Amino acid sequence: QAKSQGKNRYAVYTSELLVDSVEELQLEADLRKALDQNEFVLHYQPQINNKTGKIVGLEALIRWQHPKLGLLYPGKFIKLAEDSGLITQIGEWVIKEACTQNKKWQEDGWEPIKIAVNLSTQQFLTQDLVKFMEGVLNEAGLDPKYLVVEITEYMAMEYDYSLKVLQQLKALGICISIDDFGTGYSSLKYLKDFPVDYIKIDKSFVGEIIEDNNDAVIVKAIITLAHNLSMEVIAEGVETKAQLEFLQQYHCDKTQGYFFSKAISAEEFEQDYHTLQKQIKSKNERIMDK
Ligand code: C2E
Ligand code: MG
Ligand code: MG
Ligand code: MG
Repeated sequence: QAKSQGKNRYAVYTSELLVDSVEELQLEADLRKALDQNEFVLHYQPQINNKTGKIVGLEALIRWQHPKLGLLYPGKFIKLAEDSGLITQIGEWVIKEACTQNKKWQEDGWEPIKIAVNLSTQQFLTQDLVKFMEGVLNEAGLDPKYLVVEITEYMAMEYDYSLKVLQQLKALGICISIDDFGTGYSSLKYLKDFPVDYIKIDKSFVGEIIEDNNDAVIVKAIITLAHNLSMEVIAEGVETKAQLEFLQQYHCDKTQGYFFSKAISAEEFEQDYHTLQKQIKSKNERIMDK
């Protein structure tokens, strides 16, 4: 009996695999058309200055409005985009869209704000990335200091090349941020050489910052390290008041997380800006300094 059960399980398993790969092939075919058909959209998640409670930045996060499957999150298609080599083109669209939107907001009279874009490793290693960035900034007419690129520690593995590229991006005036800090390729050597402006503490450290003393210790150490290297710290995945208070207490510079706001569309951001900013300010009120 056990044997037949095992066999059945195996049969189910293979047919599931088959369905999975058929679905994946379909998704990849769809992905190839998505750029032409204008199906990508950027949502923006506010980054808040912990001292002032003001929205000082936005992270642009890609979503795919799939014609049949609805709104897809990057977890569903970024890996596919990387494996199929489509990520570079998609990433270029992201940079253009973010810069154009940012310039538009400035022209409409909004207070200037930084927008951060995520770079995939492949895109980062593309030969003409720096030229491309320069071109986009010129075309959009955006002051480079309002563009932040988020890179991950994996990009530090191509050490000399990465250093050169980052120095060139920095020379253009673009800001550089290390995303998901502490979860990737662990070497601290790059921190002393790379022209880094911001370190983003990964949400896996923030999630249990109150309950887990090890996380608390790590977060405090990252903040101290960053400040001593003249970098600013952004905590991601902040979901509760207690987490925010902890981060404020240890002088974390900025926070990003559901406690303040999830990522929203450009239209929502425009419509709700004043309400959102008000809500955020009141949530950010510090108890400590009063
Ligand atoms: P990431 O760059 O670390 O972005 C932060 C992710 O955490 C976002 O997920 C965001 O919605 C989510 N998040 C923000 N606050 C909270 C919170 O308080 N709690 C929780 N549980 N999650 C929170 P999202 O939008 O699904 O993006 C996932 C990842 O996909 C990003 O992680 C980034 O690595 C990648 N990604 C997003 N957009 C792009 C893009 O345009 N290009 C590339 N190459 N990758 C992208
Ligand atoms: Mg990011
Ligand atoms: Mg991150
Ligand atoms: Mg993360």
